[in-house]
Amino acid sequence: MSDFDYDLFVIGAGSGGVRASRVAASHGARVAVAEEHRVGGTCVIRGCVPKKLLVYGAHFAEDLKDARHFGWDVPDCHFDWQRLRDNVLSEVTRLEGLYGQTLDNHKVTVLKTRATVVGPQKVRLADGTELTAERILVATGGWPFVPEFPGSEHAITSNEVFHLDSLPKRVVIAGGGYIANEFAGIFNEFGSKVTIVNRGDAILRGYDEQIRDRLLQISMTKGIEFRFNAPFKSIEKQDDGSLMVHLENCDPIAADALLVATGRVPNTKGLGLEAAGVELDKDGAVKVDDNNQSSVPSIYAVGDVTNRIQLTPVAIREGQAFADSVFGGKPTTVDYANVPSAVFSHPPIGAVGMTEAEARNKLGAVRIYTSDFRAMKNVLAGRNERALYKMVVNAATDQVVGLHMIGPDAPEILQAAAVAVKAGLTKADFDATIALHPSMAEELVLLK
Ligand code: NDP
Repeated sequence: MSDFDYDLFVIGAGSGGVRASRVAASHGARVAVAEEHRVGGTCVIRGCVPKKLLVYGAHFAEDLKDARHFGWDVPDCHFDWQRLRDNVLSEVTRLEGLYGQTLDNHKVTVLKTRATVVGPQKVRLADGTELTAERILVATGGWPFVPEFPGSEHAITSNEVFHLDSLPKRVVIAGGGYIANEFAGIFNEFGSKVTIVNRGDAILRGYDEQIRDRLLQISMTKGIEFRFNAPFKSIEKQDDGSLMVHLENCDPIAADALLVATGRVPNTKGLGLEAAGVELDKDGAVKVDDNNQSSVPSIYAVGDVTNRIQLTPVAIREGQAFADSVFGGKPTTVDYANVPSAVFSHPPIGAVGMTEAEARNKLGAVRIYTSDFRAMKNVLAGRNERALYKMVVNAATDQVVGLHMIGPDAPEILQAAAVAVKAGLTKADFDATIALHPSMAEELVLLK
């Protein structure tokens, strides 16, 4: 029996923290986890899960219209934001309960309070209680970053967007990344007038250029407006409660809500890490090595707080690797190559591996295959919306080094295809696979 209160004290019960806690406990460690908000963290409470449910809800707008072309007499339908919002929030509460149960089942002590680090092996709870642990895991995630400009206090972030009292008729969304494009699609389908305002001239930096262009073109066709190279000057609240958004290089825009989606920052403010000797990077992220260990050997970190790849499944892998390595006698590191990702825009994007530009820079000779097609369902529905699949192949080895897709169900298809890319399969391997007809995914084995 050690002299410490716990073998492991985890700060933050999000995706990474919950996985690490549960696995460490299953390896026999005495574990406590502190959570100041709600068990489940960003993904479950105010991220991936409620967002995906809103995406489903939003897509009915198109499905109901398209259904008429498939013979259904669909009357004009009314959308009830409050009903969807409340259903989504109760699903979130159900999942929060399940996460809590999992921790209880593994005999992890859950402390619903803020905890800060006061030494290499000591934490302090909000009520002043100090607890010791042989190891501390920081899994506090990230927090929306809001740039400073006059009136920025009138903006909402992805934290608040799930709780809106009513659907805004006009929404301005700042940023051109994941959250901006996903919520632009959601609000637009619900009938709001959406304007995306971006400081630069590109959306979704990091994704393949052709795919980004396709999303931009489809989004504009659907009625979403874009303002590029338009940094914020100020926001004014009007007498009627609406907002006037003033931008550089553009006319002001009247809006009922301003959603700021300009990235997320590691959640380390006031955690006591620097005083305990933990090195942070310039953005406040905990610097860790391949074993998730910080500059203080007893303090580790996983997930968004380390600012490596801000994705839930990555945080989960890091939490698992940490617990298996430190408490399970099974040294494991996370392989960050070929991590698939998706943007749940309308239509969605899925991608894995190198973009065409990256491959040209890194490999020199590459072969590019594309399929630019209209999904069968869209043709009958009279929906002039084309999907685009792109395969990037290393010309020297025939290996598929990147897949990039936009179109219906692209993330679902991409997840399966990512196995092939991760396994290092070649274009010839894709070609040798007989098509599954009729499907959209068959395009991947028919690329010429
Ligand atoms: P992103 O990093 O995706 O995009 C941020 C956007 O904001 C970019 O367009 C960026 O422009 C712009 N921006 C950054 N700083 C400023 C600034 N100071 N002023 C004005 N604009 C700025 O961030 P999100 O907020 O959309 O999402 C946060 C993270 O959450 C993502 O990185 C992702 O990892 C994760 N996420 C993942 C999802 C998924 O997997 N489907 C869904 C939602 C979130 P520029 O390009 O010029 O830098």
